[in-house]
Amino acid sequence: MELSLNQDQLDFRDLAREFLDKEVVPHRREWDRAERVDLAVIPKMAEIGFFGLTIPEEYGGFGGDYISYCIGMEELGRADSAIRGIVSVSTGLVGKSILSHGTEQQKHEWLPRISSGEVLGCFGLTEPGNGSDPAHLRTRAARDGDDYVINGSKIFITNGTWAHLCLVFARTGGEGHRGISAFLVPTDTPGFEATEIHGKLGLRGQATAELSFSDMRVPASAMLGEEGQGFSIALGSLDKGRVSVAAGCVGIAMGCLSESVRYSTEREQFGRQIASYQMIQEMIARMSVDVDAGRLLTYRAAHLIEAGENFGVAASKAKYFASEAAVRAASDAIQIFGGYGYIDDYPVSKYLRDARVMTLYEGTSQIQKLLIGRAETGVNAFT
Ligand code: FAD
Repeated sequence: MELSLNQDQLDFRDLAREFLDKEVVPHRREWDRAERVDLAVIPKMAEIGFFGLTIPEEYGGFGGDYISYCIGMEELGRADSAIRGIVSVSTGLVGKSILSHGTEQQKHEWLPRISSGEVLGCFGLTEPGNGSDPAHLRTRAARDGDDYVINGSKIFITNGTWAHLCLVFARTGGEGHRGISAFLVPTDTPGFEATEIHGKLGLRGQATAELSFSDMRVPASAMLGEEGQGFSIALGSLDKGRVSVAAGCVGIAMGCLSESVRYSTEREQFGRQIASYQMIQEMIARMSVDVDAGRLLTYRAAHLIEAGENFGVAASKAKYFASEAAVRAASDAIQIFGGYGYIDDYPVSKYLRDARVMTLYEGTSQIQKLLIGRAETGVNAFT
């Protein structure tokens, strides 16, 4: 595996960093407090390439590679995870699902607009009664002539109140994972309702919503992939999504490291920089190793995606390690900042609040360990 970045990747990293330092970092605290990022940043981000990075040029994207995508996610994680999630869900979970499973018509209809940021997507899998176990989801899509009529509800859906397009997973057949299909549903379809969830610990600038579908009628041509293929579409998207979450977590840990180094070399107690104390250096050393290890695991998974090889277990390892490391790094960063770390004048408290969800969504740490354990032992804990 090639570890060094090529010039295009380095250039993209510099461009992304410069853009985010100017357009996002100065506003993140105010967006977090207001519980809403300024969506005017979306088209500007699309110009840089965040939304179309790995979408092929023929569908309006930039045709970039997956390592570059991870670099973008790292920089977004360092700048503001609320923004990182908007991109990851729209272009990653929704756009990449369309790219992998859509008809030519679906690809041409949606991908150019996702790449330009004109269309935001949301990914409707989780339901109030089914989070880690989506194979038993209850939303139903009943065939009626040339249409499907969808009834049910979803919860914790990122971009839910902002999205123009929702990838809805619904049951078209019997119980279990084989009965699930996926649908591309414009959110102005009658019967689609999104209600914002307030009071989140972190990712406050990002819209998270509860969705309800009542007699929502879509044409059969809205189905993504084949009937009964929905569960494997969801799992395939989540495998790739985990690489994106892992990269975002590396970014959080990077931010914690650089802020901790800066603060600990400036702050003095007992007449010396606090960085001179071994217990402070121990926390910084661990963050530094966590950044490197998280990045290596993430880039390996990205490299396997690029090579067209199986990457699911590598993605689980990257997501599990990097998300736990981001929480650890953010908690230690607050320790280094002392009381100042506990208020949002410095970014470390936001890093901790935002990091905390990373061990939960797109498969909890427990689920990642079961996937890794299954690969190691051959024993399937899910059946
Ligand atoms: P549960 O599945 O009820 O899990 C509760 C606990 O039990 C966890 O600790 C879990 O690890 C543990 N557990 C469950 N099963 C096992 C097992 N077999 N072995 C050991 N432990 C187990 N979903 C979407 O579809 N789209 C989105 O855009 C989206 N965005 C989100 C944004 C936010 C801010 C949040 C908080 C969630 C989002 N989710 C989204 C949902 C998220 O993916 C789920 O919350 C997650 O999958 C966990 O499901 P759950 O909350 O129902 O927890």
